[in-house]
Amino acid sequence: MGQREDIITACKKLEADGLNRGASGNVSMRDRDHMLITPSAVGYDVIAPDMIARMRLDDDSGGWEGPNKPSSEWRFHRDILRGRSDINAVVHTHAPYATILAIARKPIPAVHYMIAAFGGPDIRVCDYARYGTAELSEHILVAMEGRNGCLMANHGMVVGASDLTRALWLAGELEALAHQYVHTLAIGGPVLLSDAEIEETAKGFESYGVQAKDTAQ
Ligand code: 13P
Ligand code: ZN
Repeated sequence: MGQREDIITACKKLEADGLNRGASGNVSMRDRDHMLITPSAVGYDVIAPDMIARMRLDDDSGGWEGPNKPSSEWRFHRDILRGRSDINAVVHTHAPYATILAIARKPIPAVHYMIAAFGGPDIRVCDYARYGTAELSEHILVAMEGRNGCLMANHGMVVGASDLTRALWLAGELEALAHQYVHTLAIGGPVLLSDAEIEETAKGFESYGVQAKDTAQ
């Protein structure tokens, strides 16, 4: 299966898992010096491989190839792929619990050891900027320093990983952490793990299969 088909499979999974619906969210992959990215405003029920747009990573003009125009969020997908050699796939979702925390502008602290898969003891919330803007992209890059993902104020979340399977996995893990945190807040608040406990977990992940490569560099 090619990269375009992989992206469509990812979109269908995001919808089936309840992480995205309608045309919300978007997915991209590095293709050497290009980026493949989902089309703008196309529902996951009708999206198809030949609708995936292709853009040069070194092009600032927003030029694209394809029958459909690229996602309105092409800037932050391109900037993450440009700036982070450890990331080859980017997933953006409006997943319910992540978005609740993003609206409350509450970063996720070390509520569960799985947060170590994101590169540190917290998942930050980037500052607000309108969807599709260069300003939003700048805010995301700051919030993702040393991390594989962040919440986006009053919008959703974004994650990046070495491949698309891992990026999908991280998107699901981020939503799980958000879900756990929101519910814990309702029963008196979480007991947090220490930075040392998260570092110890990250070391453990190095010898525990899939998570090892996802730890941000
Ligand atoms: P696109 O349909 O343009 O990808 O936009 C969806 C979205 O989530 C914008 O932030
Ligand atoms: Zn969005």
